[in-house]
Amino acid sequence: MSDQPDNEKQIWTHVQKKIKEKVTSQQFTTWFESLKLIRFDADEAYILAPNSFSSEWIENNYTDVLSSTLGEVTNTCYKVKLVTESKEVKEPGPSVQSNEPSPKEKNRSNINRNYSFNNFLVGPCNRLAHAAALAVSESPGTAYNPLFIHGPVGLGKTHLLQSIYLALQERSGIQKVLYMPCESFVNHYISTIKTGDWDSFRNKYREIDTLLIDDVHFLANSQSTREEFFHTFNALYTCQKQIVLSSDCPPEEIPAIEERLISRFRWGLITRIDPPGFETSVAIIQKKTALMNMEITYDVARYLAENATSSIREIEGTLTNINKYAIISENKIDLDFVKQVIGRPTKHKSYIGIEEILGTVTKHFGVQLSQLHSKRKLKSITLPRQVAMHLARKLTNLSLEEIGGFMGGRDHTTVMHADEKIKNLRKQDRNISATLRKLETTIKKQHKQ
Ligand code: ADP
Ligand code: MG
Repeated sequence: MSDQPDNEKQIWTHVQKKIKEKVTSQQFTTWFESLKLIRFDADEAYILAPNSFSSEWIENNYTDVLSSTLGEVTNTCYKVKLVTESKEVKEPGPSVQSNEPSPKEKNRSNINRNYSFNNFLVGPCNRLAHAAALAVSESPGTAYNPLFIHGPVGLGKTHLLQSIYLALQERSGIQKVLYMPCESFVNHYISTIKTGDWDSFRNKYREIDTLLIDDVHFLANSQSTREEFFHTFNALYTCQKQIVLSSDCPPEEIPAIEERLISRFRWGLITRIDPPGFETSVAIIQKKTALMNMEITYDVARYLAENATSSIREIEGTLTNINKYAIISENKIDLDFVKQVIGRPTKHKSYIGIEEILGTVTKHFGVQLSQLHSKRKLKSITLPRQVAMHLARKLTNLSLEEIGGFMGGRDHTTVMHADEKIKNLRKQDRNISATLRKLETTIKKQHKQ
């Protein structure tokens, strides 16, 4: 594959010469020198990159330069296809500490040894979930049973469930702990329908001391699995065995779920993980980079936090990429380099700020900000106050605690209550729902300006 026919060789020499004039010499040596044009195929030009990292980098950053220069030399418009020799001997590659577990770290039960309590950064967005998980790992079956953790993807639910697993394993080897993605439970159930071996199915779950089921929203898909899950739950609960569940939504929002299961989930503690606020994002970035032996300055961490999506998994992906490219291009990870790697953020996280919400809400209802902050319980003030908290939940990525802070130092439960109340009003009262729509439109419009 890497043979370069004469014609292609000649063309490539011209192309490289021209590219040299378009990019810096450092860019040329890092990215272009070792490329080879290997063949043309209809309207495609195949270019061989030395490894997948440079191929990915060039594809993201330099395809325009490559195709335009190829066009200049050949007078034909080619689509550039970057390839690597797939059968080549594996490149040593940079020694990046990936967050993916190595086969050794990942044992048969899907456990990632990096998902320990020690590696979990606590902030306002996950404080309750973390405290509850820790308590469960210290006294399973008695602290909170069941413990139900919910929140959007990529925010640490699996991490916390596995932290419980790891802590229990470490503290008492005699505890029988089972961690299982719900999908595996569903698959096990379905395969048991075929084999009919219900004894071994039931024994598997009923013999354990702590059952950790991840992503229980998967139960939505099958009524009969929910039925079986219900019996498993009851059997364990009756024997005071610990049950921990995670889901991407609160119990009552799992589609098609029966009330009796929802009420079982409510017997214990239901806690939610929110997207990290700015400070927590910075702290997570600093913790992750330290774990990866990446040296970054505070302004880089800040920039990354400002431009990060709300998912910690995505933040990790960005860090891994930056590290890879820094190693391969032998660059220092400074602000310029990071900007270059993550590109001009397309979805710049230009968050709506709570100040914008408060401004619009006070103006609409004709109240003062100090009145919203106050403890006064007049309806003419409580309604705008609750509306502001609801809109802050909906439109910003601030945590409950952070919103409480902006609302005159209120507790996170007050924010949660206000949010729930307005959500319900929104469903029942057309006037309120029209007002809220209008407020949202105004806030978004002002924000764009
Ligand atoms: P979820 O199960 O909620 O989709 P995960 O538990 O898989 O999310 O988390 C995604 C990634 O983010 C994991 O690599 C996890 O280690 C990391 N992560 C999430 N929350 C934290 C945190 N608070 N501190 C450190 N790492 C975190
Ligand atoms: Mg998960």
